[in-house]
Amino acid sequence: MITPNRHYAELKDSYLFYHIAQKTKAYLASHPEAYLYRLGIGDATRPLCPAVIQALHEAVEDQADITRFHGYMPETGAPFLRTAIAEQYRSRSVDIEDDEVFVSSGASDELGDILDLFDRSSSALVIEPAYPAYVDANVIAGRRIVHLSSGRENGFLPDPPENKHADLLYICSPNNPTGAVFGREQLKKWVDYANAHEAVILFDAAYEAFIEDTEVPRSIFELEGAKTCAIEICSLSKTAGFTGTRLGYTVIPRKLIRDGMSFNEMWIRNRTTKTNGVSYIIQKGGAAVFTSEGQLQIRENIQYYKENARILMKALDKTETWYCGGKNAPYIWLKCPDGMDSWTFFDTLLNEVQVVGTPGAGFGKCGEGYFRFSTFGSREDTAEAARRLESLLG
Ligand code: PLP
Repeated sequence: MITPNRHYAELKDSYLFYHIAQKTKAYLASHPEAYLYRLGIGDATRPLCPAVIQALHEAVEDQADITRFHGYMPETGAPFLRTAIAEQYRSRSVDIEDDEVFVSSGASDELGDILDLFDRSSSALVIEPAYPAYVDANVIAGRRIVHLSSGRENGFLPDPPENKHADLLYICSPNNPTGAVFGREQLKKWVDYANAHEAVILFDAAYEAFIEDTEVPRSIFELEGAKTCAIEICSLSKTAGFTGTRLGYTVIPRKLIRDGMSFNEMWIRNRTTKTNGVSYIIQKGGAAVFTSEGQLQIRENIQYYKENARILMKALDKTETWYCGGKNAPYIWLKCPDGMDSWTFFDTLLNEVQVVGTPGAGFGKCGEGYFRFSTFGSREDTAEAARRLESLLG
């Protein structure tokens, strides 16, 4: 009999969004006339921008013409897109070469696949509360996980643990779920720790486009020493509304070497073995994001979400509720009122003001007592939810 990967049995039930869906369904069944204000899910709601739509249409036409038709694309990404992405870094004075950029189908795929580069005996450090995929992907691979709690005392931005070693270090900034962002000095401590421990940072920059403070790093490669210890995983999902279109990119510097092995070269080998590249049409659409027109248009959508954040933050300020995030991130992370646990607060919001959010307990133990609001909803729903929150918490 074939032996299954028994580590699947060690996974905790992915009960968070399932449980939320069950509770909202039950509420609607008993209140069929009710309308719910959903600030739970982190999915884009603004459509793709016109520059992307036009590029997608043109690419479809290319596929209909024998002289412009494209078959298999290079496994590491189309040169036109790798160059456009690398140029975007270079325009911000981050010196990235075209061949250090790998096009992907999104950050989730990469966060799972990239683990092929590391031995299963290596340990993975996860700063919690955390995006659940970091822990789950490593549980499936049978890796030892070092949980590092963060909290209000350090603004959910902990320093590296000087007395602990880990090989793979997950850093998500701007963070999902807390919305916290690492400043330059704090991030430099992690870079120094990683180099000293010969570890590798997996820097999840899925929300970098939401950073508005100019002194906050948008890429880990803005920091000296990062090229010898970090991989950056990025996505157009939230930057440009590609959650359903699927496109991302990963940067692996050529200087990233452990035990004489180049991770950049290993990833080329991995991609040529395990993928046949991302669709030509989608890559053409993605390249339009990096044109000056595309950049202006995606900014408009990001500003829309940011205005939602401002509306919610204003309500929380008025009610003197503690929160972080919202400014440089599309998530707001707040302390539940009156010492409530996060599922009790979920029920209170649902039953009393018909607002749906995400209980912090779903992101790790230290998320208990906190709650996440997403700012990806519609303006009307967000504004009404803010009014209702103000009346409940005020
Ligand atoms: N990383 C973080 C922190 C996320 O929140 C998400 C999606 O919500 C992803 C990665 C996955 O992004 P993608 O849509 O590119 O797979």
